[in-house]
Amino acid sequence: MNNAIFRFPNPGNEPVKSYAPGSDEKRELKKALTQICTEEWDIPLLIGGKEVRTGNTGKVVMPHDHKHVLATYHKAGEKEVQMAIDAAMKAHREWSELPWVERASIMLRIAELFATKYRYLLNASVMMGQSKSPFQAEIDAPCELIDFLRYSTFYAGQIYADQPYSDKGILNRMEYRALEGFVFSLSPFNFTSIASNLNMGPAMMGNVAVWKPSTTAIHSNYLLMKVFQEAGLPDGVVNFIPGQGSVIGKVITASPDLAGFHFTGSTATFNTLWRQMGNNLETYKSYPKIVGETGGKNFIFVHPSSPTLEVATAIVRGAFEYQGQKCSATSRAYIPKSLWKEIKEQIAAQLSEIKMGDPQDFTHFFNAVIDETSFDNIKSYIDHAGQANDAEIIFGGKCDKSVGYFVEPTVILTTNPQYKSMVEEIFGPVITVYVYDDNKYEETLELCDRTSPYALTGSIFARDRYALQMAFDKLRYSAGNFYINDKSTGAVIAQQPFGGSRASGTNDKAGGPLNLTRWTNARCIKEAFVPPTHFSYPFLGEK
Ligand code: NAD
Repeated sequence: MNNAIFRFPNPGNEPVKSYAPGSDEKRELKKALTQICTEEWDIPLLIGGKEVRTGNTGKVVMPHDHKHVLATYHKAGEKEVQMAIDAAMKAHREWSELPWVERASIMLRIAELFATKYRYLLNASVMMGQSKSPFQAEIDAPCELIDFLRYSTFYAGQIYADQPYSDKGILNRMEYRALEGFVFSLSPFNFTSIASNLNMGPAMMGNVAVWKPSTTAIHSNYLLMKVFQEAGLPDGVVNFIPGQGSVIGKVITASPDLAGFHFTGSTATFNTLWRQMGNNLETYKSYPKIVGETGGKNFIFVHPSSPTLEVATAIVRGAFEYQGQKCSATSRAYIPKSLWKEIKEQIAAQLSEIKMGDPQDFTHFFNAVIDETSFDNIKSYIDHAGQANDAEIIFGGKCDKSVGYFVEPTVILTTNPQYKSMVEEIFGPVITVYVYDDNKYEETLELCDRTSPYALTGSIFARDRYALQMAFDKLRYSAGNFYINDKSTGAVIAQQPFGGSRASGTNDKAGGPLNLTRWTNARCIKEAFVPPTHFSYPFLGEK
């Protein structure tokens, strides 16, 4: 019987490899890329640890070369969704009652497998399946994925150690039970690490999950499942069911055992699922816990005291890394008239050096957007700006989907602070700039706060400390992750806990203790040592 009270040490972040010319990691990654590009995977559903093939299939293609098929995957129908729910519920008792250190050990083993044996295969899968450059793939998967796993064990220990005070004569305890049911995890295409964590965060706290991966991230997400299994995750703890969201969502939200919904994706999808759960409220045995991190319209706000080259660089990196498909990508900028000419020239100089194409060529900073639907949507915003009276395209704007879904890094300049692309999330490589009068700093801050329904990330650039303080106050609710003299992207687990409010989600800070606590159902236990033997109290004796 192991009765240790265990504390995992603070793990620190997984070091990011550089993939510089001549490095071992570059050689290993190139080998893994060749493997991924020459194989065609067959991807089944994984339910209760077993492979299930439905025969209703779809293709996984490279976004930058859409004729190249990476895999064929099987889609779940209503029957398989119910099978996945049943498998999760079957695993519930044993998994939730397993000592937490045993669960943590599996998490750490998965992290280690991705840090070593599967590091390059995972990177190559993300590069080819989701069109990421080597660096963008590295910081997502494996690095952030590993950080999520290691820090969830660290924070789980802190949560479990947090126990109530016991007065004399009694003993109080808190049992952090798993939720009484299963968690539905619904993941986006853009971060492999998030897809892993949507399952593994709740699993760390003893929960079982039914997971619908994004159709455009199935290749890497299937590899995650295979490694979860290799690390010893018991059958049924996570059940992998690719397929059509609306079909799967309908069966899941009608299940009486739905106890949690862990989501990252667009605001529209989150709203649809929340509405479905609301309509089924009387069906559920418990109120499902709902955690969703959703869209953004992230800003850079520049004060006239700012250094211009740093601003231009933050715009180029913030708006265009991973083709603007990070939830935190900068998509609107407020720039004072006095600095605009200089910043514009510096953006132009940097954009002229950016090369676009297949991620297998490491000189390409910029790759393709995820799929045709996304390409067409982004292009519609660019076309709109091309015809608008109050906006013009000043850089980029070319779109070509003949080989891959390529959209140039695009900068729109508008005279209208409420122009469509200043307000709506586009989720592509498009940033809109509004130039304001230097003497209207305060009112433009207020404008920035009111312009969009989202509140995910935002940056303020200034040397003037009073100006920074004013922005800090005026933009208090405009961003859940607020940057000072830095770009709006690149949050690191345990350093900048991530999430936003308003239409950007429930702000439960993925990967941190706030999020993990949501996946517990606390039972408080009070024990009396010498219970009373008569009902009366002293106040009853009036005289
Ligand atoms: P999405 O909403 O289109 O899809 C997310 C998941 O939901 C996918 O698995 C999809 O298949 C599924 N889905 C879609 N419609 C559904 C329905 N009606 N019923 C059930 N499932 C359904 O999002 P995406 O395009 O994969 O990701 C991009 C979005 O995610 C952007 O809006 C971005 O801002 C957001 N995002 C936010 C964060 C954050 O932390 N706030 C992080 C990453 C991505």
